[in-house]
Amino acid sequence: MAPAELRYDGQTVVVTGAGGGLGREYAVFFGSRGASVVVNDLGGSFKGEGAGSAAADKVVNEIRAAGGKAVANYDSVENGEAIIKTAIDNFGRIDVLINNAGILRDVSFKNMKQADWDLIYKVHVKGAYKCAHAAWPYFRKQKYGRLISTASAAGLFGSFGQTNYSAAKLALVGFTETLAKEGFKYNILCNVIAPIAASRMTETVMPPDVLEKLKPEWIVPLVAVLTHKSNTETGAIFEAGGGHIARLRWERSKGALFKPDDSFTPGAVAAKWKQIVDFTDAEHPEGPTDALGILEAATQVAPSP
Ligand code: NAD
Repeated sequence: MAPAELRYDGQTVVVTGAGGGLGREYAVFFGSRGASVVVNDLGGSFKGEGAGSAAADKVVNEIRAAGGKAVANYDSVENGEAIIKTAIDNFGRIDVLINNAGILRDVSFKNMKQADWDLIYKVHVKGAYKCAHAAWPYFRKQKYGRLISTASAAGLFGSFGQTNYSAAKLALVGFTETLAKEGFKYNILCNVIAPIAASRMTETVMPPDVLEKLKPEWIVPLVAVLTHKSNTETGAIFEAGGGHIARLRWERSKGALFKPDDSFTPGAVAAKWKQIVDFTDAEHPEGPTDALGILEAATQVAPSP
């Protein structure tokens, strides 16, 4: 089936933070492809101040006007049970959850306040946990679920002034990789995306000519494929933006082996530093058991330094 024909008839999709930006694009898409959509949005500022129903209502009206099915939910993602309850009460099921809601509290680490740290954690990490945790029993029972969480290049690579946001975003990678393992036998597939797109979040930090090339609707095709019943990918990280999509993975250098005796000194490590950080013939581990090979090798007698 060509991607343009992917449909979600009979399914319920919950999109958090769907009152604007990327979330709105996802919600409108699913609404146009047969799904019943819960449009969640707290309706505050991009710094997490205030609340309101207008943002979610607008997107719901848009979906309905185009002939789709949608209901609004105005809870914070910190109250994930209420969001999933909206799906169950209105449509009787949940098939897809997109953890998309997010805010920024950018500030250099020196000037970071506890409140900046805590709020970012609560919205991105606790919010994703609460929504996924409320959806999980339904996913397990019906042996079907598609979960997307939203990371960021800031989390994968670091970004000046974003220690709080980077930490929260990378937390969602670990969260998803473990959920992918726990969900696999129940056909619950979980992936992470790191999007880059024009939105109110990026409009103050990127010039207009760059933003013009980063349309938020260009993230939709990846999300559509990952949340479709035909998808088999799970536990993966994807970057998407400006029409480019790529998968990221971990890489482990071959490393160095040391004799577990008195010769295993800081000096011996320093002497083999080049080998430790050399990625020639690197491995791409996908789970903790991939480390067993290393342990096995380490029990063999290492060559003399
Ligand atoms: P956006 O500000 O347009 O959208 C985020 C939405 O989440 C807003 O409508 C907001 O009201 C809502 N929201 C915020 N806090 C909420 C809460 N507690 N409960 C419910 N809703 C809440 O920004 P966007 O660019 O569309 O961002 C969407 C996601 O993508 C975020 O998680 C963001 O961190 C991530 N992201 C975006 C980019 C980018 O380039 N735009 C890059 C990396 C990651």
